Amino acid sequence: AAMRHLPYFCRGEVVKGFGRGSKELGIPTANFSEQVVESFPSDISNGVYYGWACVGNGDVHKMVLSIGWNPFYKNIKKSAETHIIHAFKDDFYGEVLSIVIIGYIRSEKNFSSLEALVSAIQEDIEEAKRQLDLPEHLKLKDDNFFRLPEGKTVKH
Ligand code: ADP
Ligand code: MG
Repeated sequence: AAMRHLPYFCRGEVVKGFGRGSKELGIPTANFSEQVVESFPSDISNGVYYGWACVGNGDVHKMVLSIGWNPFYKNIKKSAETHIIHAFKDDFYGEVLSIVIIGYIRSEKNFSSLEALVSAIQEDIEEAKRQLDLPEHLKLKDDNFFRLPEGKTVKH
């Protein structure tokens, strides 16, 4: 079920997350709004994915995406959070994030400690980097989806 819809292209505004302190861990995650996540195929599995991401009309970077349950909605709605593998100078809340989800890395897990969580995410990032260097995945970086028309922004 995780793979059936991939690659999956999606675009939406970056909203405030749950303040779980991802940034403090050095792994900020850009959250999509509830409407964007609702538009995902309903049977897309929770877990960690890799793909490409672009903010506004900026460069396309590698990313890891976590799809999980949204604690704000008593865990009945999904959330989607993208960590872009790039050092940005500033936050980009309110900007349009475009992503293509390409492959599945692992299912959601509970971790016994913060260290275990952070090291799992570091491993996810390394796996994403390796996968995205494969020619078949690299080619999606240049997809027209990432080239918005000049001066146009897309808001959901
Ligand atoms: P929140 O709970 O509001 O999502 P986070 O700690 O997860 O807070 O930080 C996410 C925010 O950090 C993003 O919305 C974005 O504006 C900013 N940010 C800066 N660098 C990155 C990055 N490399 N990947 C994702 N978001 C980033
Ligand atoms: Mg976040």
